[in-house]
Amino acid sequence: MMPAVHDVDVAPMDTERLAPFLRPDRAEEFRMLAETGRRRFGGRTVWNVSSTAAGGGVAEMLHRLVRYTKGAGVDSRWVVIDGSPEFFAITKRIHNRLHGETGDDGPLGEDERRVFQEVIADNAKPLLDQVRPEDVVLVHDPQPVGLLPLLRDRGVVAVWRCHVGTETTNECTDDAWAFLRPWVDTAAAAVFSRAEYVPDWIPETRARIIAPAIDPLSAKNAPLDDDAVLAILGRAGILDHSGDGAVFADSDDRERTADLEAQVRRVGGPLSPDVPVLLQVSRWDRLKDMAGVLRAFVDAALGAETGAHLLLVGPDVSGVTDDPEGKQVLDECVAMWEQLPSETRATASLVSLPMDDLDQNAAIVNALQRHAAVVAQKSLREGFGLTVAEAMWKGRPVVGSAVGGIQDQVRDGVDGLLIADPHDLGAFASAARTLLTDPPAAQRMGAAAHERVRDNFLADRDLAQWGTLLADLGVGG
Ligand code: UDP
Repeated sequence: MMPAVHDVDVAPMDTERLAPFLRPDRAEEFRMLAETGRRRFGGRTVWNVSSTAAGGGVAEMLHRLVRYTKGAGVDSRWVVIDGSPEFFAITKRIHNRLHGETGDDGPLGEDERRVFQEVIADNAKPLLDQVRPEDVVLVHDPQPVGLLPLLRDRGVVAVWRCHVGTETTNECTDDAWAFLRPWVDTAAAAVFSRAEYVPDWIPETRARIIAPAIDPLSAKNAPLDDDAVLAILGRAGILDHSGDGAVFADSDDRERTADLEAQVRRVGGPLSPDVPVLLQVSRWDRLKDMAGVLRAFVDAALGAETGAHLLLVGPDVSGVTDDPEGKQVLDECVAMWEQLPSETRATASLVSLPMDDLDQNAAIVNALQRHAAVVAQKSLREGFGLTVAEAMWKGRPVVGSAVGGIQDQVRDGVDGLLIADPHDLGAFASAARTLLTDPPAAQRMGAAAHERVRDNFLADRDLAQWGTLLADLGVGG
């Protein structure tokens, strides 16, 4: 296989469409931002380079960035690099180490550097043939990091955007950073989601913090009325509902009908729409602690006590051979669930959502988050936690661990409840109980949560920060 860069086609989204979702004073600021962007970037292309076009938070974020940048009238492109399986095994190792975990036990030495350089050299040619010195390139995550010095040598402003990080350092993080540093050092600036994630060797002047944001017009977050929510969840086989109107707007803003069936492990048939739901949507990743949510819920007998039902929802992992951990974690949850006494088992369901059609998947997640009474994110560690912003935007109060970006989003007692020790099952259950049994408080916090996201975690905020950063780097100035 000859590696090469591939274009990802993203339809522009008129920036005016975002205005109604913003705080009124921000709508005007956003118009001015679009105007300044058009002027500043006229005749230039803003490139994004990543290693995947679909699935995962980075792809979602890039889609949003590109659709609004284009919608503002700025030429923007997104390309994806190609690589060998050996290259991606190394990048996965780096990813794990940046999270403080060993991952596989392989080395990050000169041989791995050579593999990196070869892949980058193959991808660089088709990219450098197209990028002009006046363009800007945003390089996302470690995979394409090797492009940075090549772009700099061409006189192109190239910024590195790192989407991963942990608050604490250890040998693993040191190992990964030592590997990446020679390339990162050549970036015009390095952007992180939280200040705690910036390695100490990056000078303050070259580091920027831009928290992630969500797109209120994506299939994941676009408005759905109550009928559509019930119809989509009925169609998915999650709720007992057979109404029509299971329609949603996909990522290209086309109207589609939801037709995806979820795989649900439960006792009995679909859930009645009247049962209050405690929801956690996550990948089946140990650090999301789906098993801990189930344990806490059943040990505290929250189902019997509050009448609520727990839905643990994640991607379908059956047959996915490149994510052995996902399957393992799901299997462990299933085993724990199967061992419960049948009455308790009936208060919780495990749901797997097919990933073949990401828009269909997103529509179900959207409907689930809107239907939930309370949303949980009991992560043991978390980079940012887009699921939290997604739920808050939909006016749901969140019970979350006070880790990573969750604590930047949820104000304890205002938008939801934070658990200081993510391993404390009792504290988690008690917070969930509080919100499930006090609907007025849950509603109040949900309303605050929506405003919190509107003011801090929508696309206008991060686009403005990107604009400021590029202006500071002298682009178009
Ligand atoms: N997600 C999804 N379907 C699933 C599970 C997760 O679409 O079955 C989405 C979720 O809505 C969110 C993203 O995957 O947009 C996960 O991002 P987050 O930052 O919460 O965690 P990460 O998976 O990046 O660690």
